[in-house]
Amino acid sequence: MKNLYNEDEFLLISGIQHFAFCSRQWALIHVEQLWAENVKTIEGQHLHNRVDDPFLKDSGNQIEVWRSVSLISYSLGLTGRGDVVEFKTGDSGIELPGKTGWWTPFPVEYKRGKPKPDERDEVQLCAQAICMEEMFETTIEEGAMFYGETRRRAIISFTKELRQQVVDYTEEMHRLFKLAITPPPVYKPHCKSCSLFDVCLPKSINRNRTVISYLKRELQ
Ligand code: SF4
Repeated sequence: MKNLYNEDEFLLISGIQHFAFCSRQWALIHVEQLWAENVKTIEGQHLHNRVDDPFLKDSGNQIEVWRSVSLISYSLGLTGRGDVVEFKTGDSGIELPGKTGWWTPFPVEYKRGKPKPDERDEVQLCAQAICMEEMFETTIEEGAMFYGETRRRAIISFTKELRQQVVDYTEEMHRLFKLAITPPPVYKPHCKSCSLFDVCLPKSINRNRTVISYLKRELQ
């Protein structure tokens, strides 16, 4: 993969889940950076409680578990952390420090709720996998989401289509960030579950104005 971005251009991996849900939600958080409390609310939906995951085992002879793993991709221009990487031993993969044999990385991400009707969790996990592929110089075919509500793992295959979706999203995220553009609101049913509904004003704001310009005008 080509190095397309410098480190000062990197965006947060976790933002891609916001972008997949709504590009405006992502821009309100990451471009306008107005609503830290709402970011906490959104990020708080993230479950970091591995004891709930009956699949996750501590390091042993067959599996090595790394938690809160720093991730970076120069091809996507993303950085952040992954909840868990399981390394499974086999005939191929990478070498691990202090371990013999070959190990294949398997990313696992934790969410509080249940599987979503859209692909926001899948693109986040796939973006993490692409980071790992770059960092470890290997190929990762699949990973898993663990949902606290269903207490199940969902296996995610990193298909060509899903990878392309990640690339398309990240390219658009970088374009909007560079130009400091917040897309106008488009009211949809999913707005009802959006933590930024009250600041986005999807039904009342003029599509051609940013929220900042709206608030300035309203506060005059
Ligand atoms: S309220 Fe709707 S349009 Fe506004 S940020 Fe949320 S999902 Fe996007």
